[in-house]
Amino acid sequence: MHIADILKQQAPHFSFEYFPPKTEETSRSLFESIKELTPLKPSYVSVTYGAGGSTRQLTHDLVVRLQKETQLTIVSHLTCVGAGKDEINDVLTKYNENGIQNIMALRGDPAKGQAQFVQPENGFGYAAELVAFIKKHFPNMGVGVAGFPEGHPNTPNRLKEIEHLKAKVDAGADYICTQLFFENRDFYDFCERCEIAGIKVPIIAGIMPVTSQYYNSYVCSP
Ligand SMILES: Cc1cc2nc3c(=O)[nH]c(=O)nc-3n(C[C@H](O)[C@H](O)[C@H](O)COP(=O)(O)OP(=O)(O)OC[C@H]3O[C@@H](n4cnc5c(N)ncnc54)[C@H](O)[C@@H]3O)c2cc1C
Repeated sequence: MHIADILKQQAPHFSFEYFPPKTEETSRSLFESIKELTPLKPSYVSVTYGAGGSTRQLTHDLVVRLQKETQLTIVSHLTCVGAGKDEINDVLTKYNENGIQNIMALRGDPAKGQAQFVQPENGFGYAAELVAFIKKHFPNMGVGVAGFPEGHPNTPNRLKEIEHLKAKVDAGADYICTQLFFENRDFYDFCERCEIAGIKVPIIAGIMPVTSQYYNSYVCSP
């Protein structure tokens, strides 16, 4: 089922984001966590794609395994980093064949050792191009895109930011999921700016839970 359709059902909605495990042991512990969290009935779960495409194969494997072994609705993150159109087409074909119906389409962060994102040969420069490609070649796929309530570091100003976000929605994105934010006001302000720009798709707030006492004291220290 598409995420946009799930979001039309009765709220509240929440999802969990999983990072692909790199070893047998972390894989076991991930599946233990999934077993514990599944009874909470998340609306969906998503699987990230390591920065610079570093977990590409692990992401694909985990997504297909989750689809086969659980009843969860899966969203696979997919980035433009380090892959040309043919490779991206192969990944989407595999997902399609395995029943994956939702993609989080991202430009991605730079590959390790690179300061800036570099457009791959025969690849995409921006997430909007990836969205358009998916919608053209895999029209049955639901597509989510990233939003940045506190602004994206590469965007010159807030007006351009919403313009670029709107380009992703105009290319066919069905919903927006945001980067984490520290002030709720930033999220509400972001939603209002989207509304003014005519962006009508659902916007999901990205929330990072406090994962350790050290993290908590780090954030609060003066
Ligand atoms: C919910 C969420 C999940 C994420 N998951 C992952 C993940 O799994 N793996 C990963 O590597 N990264 C992930 N990211 C991070 C994301 O890939 C980076 O922040 C990346 O730098 C921006 O991605 P984007 O899809 O927003 O790119 P884009 O929308 O392409 O934007 C990238 C930059 O280019 C600018 N821009 C866009 N279009 C144009 C244009 N036509 N002309 C000039 N400038 C333009 C934008 O304003 C922005 O500054 C995630 C982010 C979020 C919010």
